[in-house]
Amino acid sequence: MTGEKKRSARLGDKNDLRIKAIENGTVIDHITPGQALNVLNILRVNGDFTNTVSVVMNAGGSRGDKDVVKIEGRELTEKEVNSISLISPKATLNIIRNFEVVQKRPIQKPESVCGIVKCINPNCITNSSEPIETKFIVSENEKVKSLVLRCVFCESIMTEDLIKFIE
Ligand SMILES: [Zn+2]
Repeated sequence: MTGEKKRSARLGDKNDLRIKAIENGTVIDHITPGQALNVLNILRVNGDFTNTVSVVMNAGGSRGDKDVVKIEGRELTEKEVNSISLISPKATLNIIRNFEVVQKRPIQKPESVCGIVKCINPNCITNSSEPIETKFIVSENEKVKSLVLRCVFCESIMTEDLIKFIE
């Protein structure tokens, strides 16, 4: 071990070590506490997934709780990022290639989401046999600090338990 490596191992905080332990893949950090397993559902990570996946729930100690998901050999599609933003708008994405963080960015609230959420209204045209993709305008409710989705077809408002409606 070189002197430099020893030094970084000593100085690096735990998050840093977790990120560096991954060769290629994605670290989703600052996930809303309790949402890590929903994030895995969105990414369709289940028993058939063979790459290494690490889940840390309620990490962060005195800096406040958060969940972290680290997933080897996988980068996220825009659709997956948008889905995660609906249940964890403060999350950050770290893309890892060859042990380096090549990109770090906050997940941003999309202006609208298409083909991600099923409309709560059973009579909505998107729930009929018509081949119409769902579309919702996304806004933020400052009072309850949660996202509000408005269906562009039937004006239905959805804000709670969005995970149940993510397709
Ligand atoms: Zn609708």
